[in-house]
Amino acid sequence: MESIQNRANIPPNMCFFTWDIHYACNFKCTYCFFCDSWEEQKKKNRYPGLERWKQIWDDIYKKYGGGHIHISGGEPFCYPNIMEITKHLIKNFTVEFDTNLSWDVDKFMSEIRPGKVKFAASFHPQFSKFEEHLVKIKKLKDAGYDFGINYVAHPTQLEKMPYYKQKISQLHVSFDVMPFRGKYKGKEYPLSYTEEEKRLIESVDKNTASRMLEAYSPKKKEEQKKEAIKVEDKNNNKKIEAEKHKTNDPTAHFAKTNKHYHKLCRMGQMYTKILSNGDAYRCCLQKPEGLLGNLIDGTFKFYEEPKICIYDKCPCWVAMITNEEENWLFHWKTPKIKQFLRK
Ligand code: SF4
Ligand code: SF4
Repeated sequence: MESIQNRANIPPNMCFFTWDIHYACNFKCTYCFFCDSWEEQKKKNRYPGLERWKQIWDDIYKKYGGGHIHISGGEPFCYPNIMEITKHLIKNFTVEFDTNLSWDVDKFMSEIRPGKVKFAASFHPQFSKFEEHLVKIKKLKDAGYDFGINYVAHPTQLEKMPYYKQKISQLHVSFDVMPFRGKYKGKEYPLSYTEEEKRLIESVDKNTASRMLEAYSPKKKEEQKKEAIKVEDKNNNKKIEAEKHKTNDPTAHFAKTNKHYHKLCRMGQMYTKILSNGDAYRCCLQKPEGLLGNLIDGTFKFYEEPKICIYDKCPCWVAMITNEEENWLFHWKTPKIKQFLRK
């Protein structure tokens, strides 16, 4: 049997799981990634039941130690038995929810104590009333749950954003702005924000939004292109072509479009993206070559070493590239996890 390395000794020192638990939601936000395809998305969902999930996550814990499970979707709190699943998961993992906070927070607080649960709660003005939302945030925050609010900077939602931020900040809760990614009135975002809109977004959220805007900006893309060209120059076009013939590597030209091409990446060793059918991929790119197996079928396993990236692009702004830890380690931190790590 292949020996399994102790993840506590490998940066970022614990495994991370992004789990799209199912594609279903009680809201239907117009800017949602799935707004035009909910019925199609729902067909991918698998519901193996509470006992099977307990077994799956216990097996993962035995193999890889504790870690952080970021549960997303859709809306996780519409998933059958989510409270029971959570109670079981927090025995060995910390859990983070992307949620619209439309559920009964009093019930949750009476059943699951703070300490191992984090909320990346979103506020969606299309479906939630701000004052009611604020009451829920305050209750959870006062009870001691780790908490932050995400807000989509859709062009129609910019005007009241500073007000929401101010009210939420008064509760000492962070307010992260997510630049809108998609089309609105025929324009592609975030590229189509005006300078004024960008200034407004950056004034409300200097950290996350600014970093993301920078990562998606045409200027940045231009820089990345230049950097990729530099890599290409360095290696020399002819050399790449020669290599292509020699190794029969059909991906060699991706050096032009992916600044991480052929670098060692720990995604797949320390991170996996799990879809609602149980398929687990090396990273968000979900390339067939990056399939690590299926959790529900029991075929999932992490790589035991970092592997080179052979993809045409890298969509991850905090990809776990070896020897470039200063660019991503800050993001993969969940201090409360330490108590679960294997010695
Ligand atoms: S709450 Fe989230 S998952 Fe649900 S429709 Fe809105 S953006 Fe999509
Ligand atoms: S695409 Fe990015 S995150 Fe995915 S393996 Fe390549 S470098 Fe890593």
